[in-house]
Amino acid sequence: MKIQTPTRAPRRPSTAPELLFGDLWDYDPAPETADPKLKARYDLFIGGEFVPPAGGKYFESVNPATEAKLAELALGGPDDVDRACRAAAAAFPAWSALPGRERGKYLYRIARLLQDRAREFAVAETLDNGKPIRETRDFDVPTCAAHFFYHAGWADKLEYVAPGRRMEPLGVVGQVIPWNFPLLMLSWKIAPALCLGNCVVIKPASNTSITALKLAEIFQDAGLPPGVVNVVSGPGSTGGALMAHPAVAKIAFTGSTEVGKVIMRSVAGSDKKMTMELGGKAANIVFDDAPLDQAVEGIVNGIFFNQGQVCCAGSRLLVHEPVARTVVSKLKARLRVLRVGDPMDKNTDVGAIVSRAQLDTIRGYLKAGVDEGAEMWQPPCRLPKKGFFMPPTIFTGVTQSHRIAREEIFGPVLSILTFRTVDEAIEKANNTEYGLSAGVWTDKGSRILRMSTELKAGVVWANTYNKFDPASPFGGYKESGFGREGGRHGLLDYGRLVEEGRP
Ligand code: NAP
Ligand code: MG
Repeated sequence: MKIQTPTRAPRRPSTAPELLFGDLWDYDPAPETADPKLKARYDLFIGGEFVPPAGGKYFESVNPATEAKLAELALGGPDDVDRACRAAAAAFPAWSALPGRERGKYLYRIARLLQDRAREFAVAETLDNGKPIRETRDFDVPTCAAHFFYHAGWADKLEYVAPGRRMEPLGVVGQVIPWNFPLLMLSWKIAPALCLGNCVVIKPASNTSITALKLAEIFQDAGLPPGVVNVVSGPGSTGGALMAHPAVAKIAFTGSTEVGKVIMRSVAGSDKKMTMELGGKAANIVFDDAPLDQAVEGIVNGIFFNQGQVCCAGSRLLVHEPVARTVVSKLKARLRVLRVGDPMDKNTDVGAIVSRAQLDTIRGYLKAGVDEGAEMWQPPCRLPKKGFFMPPTIFTGVTQSHRIAREEIFGPVLSILTFRTVDEAIEKANNTEYGLSAGVWTDKGSRILRMSTELKAGVVWANTYNKFDPASPFGGYKESGFGREGGRHGLLDYGRLVEEGRP
């Protein structure tokens, strides 16, 4: 009998959050040494080709950990948006007429090609965004691939999205994404849109457009028909032109609540369908019966993952009074051993902040916290001389009226408040304009059920935090937005439901 020997290197254990689709993922031994294969200049991706911008202008993308220039990116404007929307509209009839199973093959191919180039993409994302290589390698890239796999799986089962009814695609979808999870946000948007037969024009964040344009290379390699996905890099105003373009039937925006409102006003009165994934100010609630060491890990993950630049970050810690002192002292001990620094070092826990502007915003909040009377604490750590770095920071003595307890900081800054009763915890947690996520740490199942019913948040994690799965819908209450991404609910937002037997 012939014994087959494995041809791939053994998988190594992950130190990052639990992996999704782990069995489809093969590790390479040293991703941080991979060549990110960056081009000196990236053009726009329109109609299946890389084309220069109409205005002939380019802007720089920098590495926030070194402040060095990484590449030049095309500065797309309204004329380029128009060109991209026309390309998408031209591609729509043939793409939407394909049987779902055929579209699924493209999604599957994209996922596989991304896996083949995973090391390269992880390094490129870390260089462009500043997030630790361990996160891009073990989270961003595999989860991006997982979203394409997941939607490839739906493509030939679309009759089950809404049994008894039929889903029709909407046409051209205009999408604008932020810089905190460039690849992942792109996959949340593009995969469900294509699955249903829509065509896409997407504008990545200007700080972090490189991986979207690298993924366009994969779209070419996957043989995706020209015009099905178009990538237009450029500033916020280019995103505005895309959202308002008459050919766009649906808008999908992820970003700040402020810009979300500007977009909603700009398209008011049109028949564009909209989904908005906006800001958050989540409460991570720790009860006295919780496994405290586990909870401390959850608090750290909740606010220091991706330098706290996470819409669903657990940025408000609500801790039960009897254990408040213990939790804060355990937390401080834990923060003393977090490694802050070079994002390309695989042992780094906290990398660089995405830009100088974002670093200044965070510093402004530190000042506001101190000025308003909260007590700030940072572990001693030596920061690199160049680049945009911020040590993990906690504030105690925070009250609900403090700005650091109300406003989204989008940085590695935790505001700690206390509570005495379950009712008080619920009231404080819900005392925010936002409602994206929440965390509950307790040993009691009944309490978890009550909290998850009464917390006004799209996602409630229990005894864990920041867990994502393509099958699980994600989205907000209140000013955190509307519509869902992921799962069957996410698909419903990319199509029109038609009763069976009707045209
Ligand atoms: P942002 O300033 O709102 O920018 C998001 C995107 O919108 C970027 O691509 C930006 O382009 C573009 N943009 C700016 N002005 C625009 C306009 N007038 N019209 C159309 N597009 C415009 O947000 P950010 O600072 O990049 O990202 C952080 C925010 O995103 C946080 O508030 C966070 O909570 C939220 N977020 C939410 C989710 C979620 O799922 N709910 C996920 C991630 C992030 P430029 O980059 O060129 O400025
Ligand atoms: Mg950059």
